[in-house]
Amino acid sequence: MSNILEDNHLKAKYVIIGNSAAGLSCAEGIRSGDKKAKIMILTNEKFDNYSKPLISYFLAGKIDLKNIFFKDHDFYKKHSLTLLKDFNVKKINFRNKEILSWDDKKVIYEKLCIAAGGVPIIPQVELAFLSEKEEPGNNSNDSHIKHGRSGIKSRIISEIDIKNIDGIFTFTTMDDSLKIKKYVTANKIKESVILGGGLIGLKSAESLLSLGIRINIIEMSGRLLPSSFDKTASEIYEKAFRDKKSSVSVNKTIKRVYIKNNKVVAVETGDGKVIYTDMLVIAAGVKPNIDFIDEETEERKNLVFLRGIKTDKYMRTEVRDVFAAGDIVENKNVLKNSIENIAIWPLAVRQGMAAGQNMAGFFKEYSGGFPMNSVEIFDIPGVAIGITNPDNFDKKHLEIITDYNRDLNVYKKIVIFENKIIGVLLIGNIERAGIFSGLITNKVNVGKIKDLLLKDDFGVIQLPAEYKKHLVTGDAVAL
Ligand SMILES: Cc1cc2nc3c(=O)[nH]c(=O)nc-3n(C[C@H](O)[C@H](O)[C@H](O)COP(=O)(O)OP(=O)(O)OC[C@H]3O[C@@H](n4cnc5c(N)ncnc54)[C@H](O)[C@@H]3O)c2cc1C
Repeated sequence: MSNILEDNHLKAKYVIIGNSAAGLSCAEGIRSGDKKAKIMILTNEKFDNYSKPLISYFLAGKIDLKNIFFKDHDFYKKHSLTLLKDFNVKKINFRNKEILSWDDKKVIYEKLCIAAGGVPIIPQVELAFLSEKEEPGNNSNDSHIKHGRSGIKSRIISEIDIKNIDGIFTFTTMDDSLKIKKYVTANKIKESVILGGGLIGLKSAESLLSLGIRINIIEMSGRLLPSSFDKTASEIYEKAFRDKKSSVSVNKTIKRVYIKNNKVVAVETGDGKVIYTDMLVIAAGVKPNIDFIDEETEERKNLVFLRGIKTDKYMRTEVRDVFAAGDIVENKNVLKNSIENIAIWPLAVRQGMAAGQNMAGFFKEYSGGFPMNSVEIFDIPGVAIGITNPDNFDKKHLEIITDYNRDLNVYKKIVIFENKIIGVLLIGNIERAGIFSGLITNKVNVGKIKDLLLKDDFGVIQLPAEYKKHLVTGDAVAL
């Protein structure tokens, strides 16, 4: 893995920003067409690579550092890839094809793939700094805080505060996981508030609970995992949290976080309730990581749209020789025919592969995808695939079939539009998830087998003969 230094800068035919799902898949895609040219991968992290979906398992102690990598060290050697760790991109000069780092390193590319993923959304929460004598909630009506009449210093939280104040964390990187692990161990943490009940909030809850930490999830919408769960699915988990002396508060938000001696001591919800806590995890979602694309430039206007970097079906952006893939891009939801940011691992891999192949001169299309989420809390597994809350579909052609066994915590919901499954929610028993995602992907007409879909013994045997033939030939298994 040598770096070639030319006139005090690094140069490569192909440069990839991002050393994760999309970035490494892009490198493989390039190598499938170009075996020789130099490929340089930039990452602002210090790890060879790691699987983000596993950072919660690392925090829980279920997996160690050695097993969290999804490509081993030989991968870089085998594909002749130059990996530059700790290269934190500050700016891209698209006209000169230069990438600059915060510590003044420069990399020059011929073709670039931006696969820098997502960054946590930091909501507009106020930090109130208490003196030794002051208590959370006292003197904390809004006008006192804003005008400083109570003497309490306050400001809106920033990324720097999250780095500097003890006990506030985000949870999207391996570094976050390591920091939380260190903090909970050193301070014998017993209680944590989690701001956000989406995928990342639930994943962090999952791992903190297994460390014996009580959880208090504060979710702004009316249910957990609002994009994928419905009320019934959410209530199964809400009850499980209550049974373990943890809690979920829906339709609530945090307006203020109290800090004493540079440490979190409590949060205050929008309705004025003070919750004492040792720790706060901010899990309010992720947004495309586009800060290094200079806002003032023409390229930024051409590249970045509402939901991330815009690409065509070959993962090309509007800027010449610049491709993009993964959580940073706008994605086509093929079930809704809409443009969204669908931040999931398998789509990042597929996009990265297509980007790489096209960078190497092929014309490989990426046609879009659909959301898929899975969680497991208190041994209750849950999977949500596709459109599970079909609010904007023509009711005439829509059927929703459900089965709920309250005693066993088993819930199944299948959403069918024009005789095709467009969404599946499985809680408690997720055994058929693979079959259902295949039926969704391949738009299989289930008109004749609708009555069988919820049965416990539903399986491949009941599928339409034509589709079974595809399964055997392998055409229908890819997602
Ligand atoms: C806690 C958690 C659990 C998840 N669980 C699941 C799951 O169960 N299933 C699922 O499908 N998805 C899950 N996801 C989402 C999944 O991890 C992402 O969709 C996937 O990682 C996206 O890959 P990516 O390559 O686009 O970006 P990322 O994985 O975010 O990687 C971005 C890369 O860019 C680099 N980078 C960023 N900024 C810079 C910079 N300025 N300079 C240099 N390098 C930079 C980073 O170092 C990193 O290598 C989870 C995510 C999280 C956070």
